[in-house]
Amino acid sequence: MNIPFVDLKAQYNSIKSEVDSAIFNVLNETNFIGGKPIKDFEAKFAALYGSKHVIGVANGTDAIYIVLKMLGIGAGDEVITTSASWISTSETISQTGATPVFVDIDPETYTINPLLIESKITKRTKAIFPVHLYGHVAHITQIKNLCEKYNLLLVEDCAQSHFSAENGQLAGRFGIAGTFSFYPGKNLGAYGDSGCIITDDDMLAEKCRMYANHGALKKHEHQIEGINSRLDTIQAAVLGVKSKYILDWTAARIEKARIYNEVLEDVNEISLPIVRKNTKHTFHLYVVRTKKRDYLKSYLESQGIQTAIHYPTALPNLQAYKYLNHRREDFPVASAYQDEILSLPIYPELDVIQINYVAEKIRAFFRS
Ligand SMILES: *Cc1c(COP(=O)(O)O)cnc(C)c1O
Repeated sequence: MNIPFVDLKAQYNSIKSEVDSAIFNVLNETNFIGGKPIKDFEAKFAALYGSKHVIGVANGTDAIYIVLKMLGIGAGDEVITTSASWISTSETISQTGATPVFVDIDPETYTINPLLIESKITKRTKAIFPVHLYGHVAHITQIKNLCEKYNLLLVEDCAQSHFSAENGQLAGRFGIAGTFSFYPGKNLGAYGDSGCIITDDDMLAEKCRMYANHGALKKHEHQIEGINSRLDTIQAAVLGVKSKYILDWTAARIEKARIYNEVLEDVNEISLPIVRKNTKHTFHLYVVRTKKRDYLKSYLESQGIQTAIHYPTALPNLQAYKYLNHRREDFPVASAYQDEILSLPIYPELDVIQINYVAEKIRAFFRS
């Protein structure tokens, strides 16, 4: 049996006629930049999130950069973030001129360890930027309390956590803004690059919209210099169709994770994902841990099962951050886990037969 890591084709097939006609409409009207599909999708996403503003942008990385920059973060400032994430989380901090300050992860949840944050706060700290990694909400209430105590901005990286929640409140709604990616493989994915910012803050929303559009709200009225980071109209059309199904797809992911947990429960050699109390984990990724990670990965590959590693090098250990002079021991959990984590295939269309096959092969590997 062949099980891909993600199967975008299965989802496309299930909505083909709707997506095709949405794309065709854009082609037919040749409104490739701007236009109704963007306004429509922004309104839909705003309604789903109960957010006052949604600003569509070119990708999830820009979404972060634009928010941090428009919050006034820049040279001389520090932004505290997690040591386990995709590089967008920290490279955007650097792009503003600020310095990323890494904190080790919680060994149970893989998200920033809230107990280690306070010791990293300095006079230069401007913001805390947690990531809801793999779809699991970071300890956001604790982090929000710290932000209030030290008067810091809270921005959330929701690229992997569409519709995740803590105590019924959606991730991305705790701080001043949340940033999303709609990269094709994300829980809500377009058919190319795209992303968005959500916020209730009128002034921040206006600044972000302006900055993403060459510093202008109206054509030729450039109030500042900005960048070109528009949400593509074809992508907005695709997202408009997909947003009708996203809650069902999210529920399906959670159900697949539940089945994985059930069928893998007796495999003592691997650690399964833990869901913190009162949180909704939306399983962008289903990540297990084993000391025999590389062997397991190649064995599964040989059995037709594609897996992935998110991420093989913790952020502070990357060559890109060598200048910060960190040692692996400064981030003991993230450094140890980078060699143990393995992401198993998960997507809404994955079926029980496939999950059982993966579980059976994992069991076979540890038996031999
Ligand atoms: C995907 C991702 C991003 C960036 O999104 P792009 O749309 O690829 O630019 C940012 N942060 C995290 C945690 C991500 O997983």
